[in-house]
Amino acid sequence: MSTNSTTAPTHQNYIGGEWRAASDGALDAHHNPARISEVTGHFPRSTDDDVRAAVDAAEAAYPAWRDLSVFARAEYLKRALALMSERIDRVSQVITTENGKTLAESRGEIVSAIKEMEHQIHQGLRDLGEIAPSAQSGVLAYQYRRPLGVCAVISPWNFPFNVPGRKCTPALIAGNTVVLKPASLTPNVGLEFTRLFADTGLPKGVLNCITGSGSGAGESLLNDSRIKAISFTGSTKVGIHINQLAAGRLVRTQLELGGKNPMVVLEDADLDEAASACATAAFACAGQWCTSTSRVIVAKKIAGPFVEAVLAKAQALRLGNGFDPATTMGPVCGTQQMKNILDFIEQGKQEGARLLTGGRRAAGEGLDDGCFIEPTVFSEVNPGMTITQEEIFGPVLSVFTADSFDEAVNIANGVRFGLASSIYTKDLERAMKFLEKTEAGLTHVNMMSAYKEPQLSFGGIKQSGSGIPEAGRTGIEFFTEHKVAYIKYRS
Ligand code: NAP
Ligand code: MG
Repeated sequence: MSTNSTTAPTHQNYIGGEWRAASDGALDAHHNPARISEVTGHFPRSTDDDVRAAVDAAEAAYPAWRDLSVFARAEYLKRALALMSERIDRVSQVITTENGKTLAESRGEIVSAIKEMEHQIHQGLRDLGEIAPSAQSGVLAYQYRRPLGVCAVISPWNFPFNVPGRKCTPALIAGNTVVLKPASLTPNVGLEFTRLFADTGLPKGVLNCITGSGSGAGESLLNDSRIKAISFTGSTKVGIHINQLAAGRLVRTQLELGGKNPMVVLEDADLDEAASACATAAFACAGQWCTSTSRVIVAKKIAGPFVEAVLAKAQALRLGNGFDPATTMGPVCGTQQMKNILDFIEQGKQEGARLLTGGRRAAGEGLDDGCFIEPTVFSEVNPGMTITQEEIFGPVLSVFTADSFDEAVNIANGVRFGLASSIYTKDLERAMKFLEKTEAGLTHVNMMSAYKEPQLSFGGIKQSGSGIPEAGRTGIEFFTEHKVAYIKYRS
């Protein structure tokens, strides 16, 4: 039973520069993952009419926004960035309230979003296209990129601020207008993201935000024939569905999907560094990074001390409310997510994996009403097990041992996903061989699987991603089409 359902605030969509309730007034309650009985707010369950109104607004705003100079567009976006820095405390509180991650993790998410967004704004100011020599004299030949129109951004709950930032910034700087549909587990983060732009005077309709379910508002947005591009981050299952839907209209998609990221630790690795990186990449944000390490493959010779070091770090984590500064691991994001993870853990046990630590819903003072799961480590796993094949998306690590480098690489590659991978070794030759063989969009040598920088693209291969990747130079490429011009200025 909710204790405060009637006192929790009611939020509104942002459509065409106005904050508006759903057209039929319907609302969904959101629950705090650290205290499930607490309702954090009520959010519009957007109808088809609301979605249409958001696309109408984005369509109406497009010509004027497109025709502004890129420098003028950059000024608007820079103002929103400045406001992000000013509001970092408030917005990180919203992230922790809805997602559960610690305040430090929420702050880190915003800091990294600001860096990525800054980079995309500057990239927009640099992307001038290219002049090519012409075969004819008196002909100027060049190519450049131009915006598409109204773009849909559908974001997940695990990085509810960073992902909209990484997608909306290149879309907007390039001259598109956007309708954002945040995950229903983190609607207020999406609205707070949008508010930063609204409060700095972005022209009406350039960025719109509608809340509601994926199968309702999300699906309705994707089905609007005026949408020119769909940038989606979320599960592989929904990504494939979106791709099928978009293919029917030749709408481009950018899909950043699930992972089952491996870390290989060879016998010459720095054990302390490798164990720290493994524990951080497995348990930070309660294992809900898309680039989390969920499988570690250790050389048999060093498996004993390595596993001991990882277990010590897992057991030292302090579970609790993300607002408590002593907390080092918050809850997982909601009751459904908790159930999924506990089901996977049960399946791991039934399939014969050996539970080394954790494995239960955490109990005790301050935990009983929340979605807390103990950091969990399994050993004696094999590639045939569900827990080593499926994305669990929680604080669950599987430890394999390998007799040889080749065996380690085979295990690492033996999944349908290909987002991030890492290797710890001092042997340059084997590190380079791993880079050649590993099937992942991002690979790290002596660095953890979750590391990234804004100058470089971010995206997976295999079932972890499809389309032009986000960030780096490709961030804007996805949201633009090419245009070639030949101009005869002298006969
Ligand atoms: P999800 O269930 O696939 O949902 C993602 C978004 O899609 C949400 O906004 C969701 O709305 C919406 N959605 C669901 N069904 C839809 C439909 N039929 N049409 C349109 N929209 C729909 O994923 P999630 O559980 O939020 O996020 C976790 C997943 O994201 C994990 O698999 C993780 O690996 C992945 N991820 C990948 C990356 C990457 O860069 N590769 C980064 C972060 C996360 P609702 O919330 O209302 O369902
Ligand atoms: Mg989901």
